[in-house]
Amino acid sequence: MSQEESPPQPPPEDGDEKKERVLHTRVPAVLEQELKRLAQNIRVPVSNLVRTILEDAVAVADRAGRGVEEELHRAAGRVSAQREAILRKRDEVVGRTKSGPLGGIVGFQPMVLATDTHCAVCDAELSAGESAHLGVHSDPAAPRPIVCDACLPRPKK
Ligand SMILES: [Zn+2]
Repeated sequence: MSQEESPPQPPPEDGDEKKERVLHTRVPAVLEQELKRLAQNIRVPVSNLVRTILEDAVAVADRAGRGVEEELHRAAGRVSAQREAILRKRDEVVGRTKSGPLGGIVGFQPMVLATDTHCAVCDAELSAGESAHLGVHSDPAAPRPIVCDACLPRPKK
């Protein structure tokens, strides 16, 4: 029994607020290298990275009531320190997308089983004396799954 007849919504205006500008600036060579390396490491365009850092800096300056300029200096100085944090973040993201029993596995070593076990992928029973493969993780401290022959990756033709 609703009599609401909402008038058709006007389309969102991609107007002046979204207008973007290109900003050319000089940066010290060291900072440029650092930005490029950081961008490469996390696989984003340098311009995106710079924009993110600038937006961060402006937001922080707003909150703190400090000058934007001062905050930009701080942000530039923090780039190096932030790189480690960003790389860790990337590892997390990569780890999530490549999850599953073989996430992070970089190779397989053939082996003869000493005890009965199960394939980490298909859960097939594997008996002592059978051949199987040990998954080698990029992180040496990570668990190494045992995988049956059938579950090994095949070369793409
Ligand atoms: Zn298997």
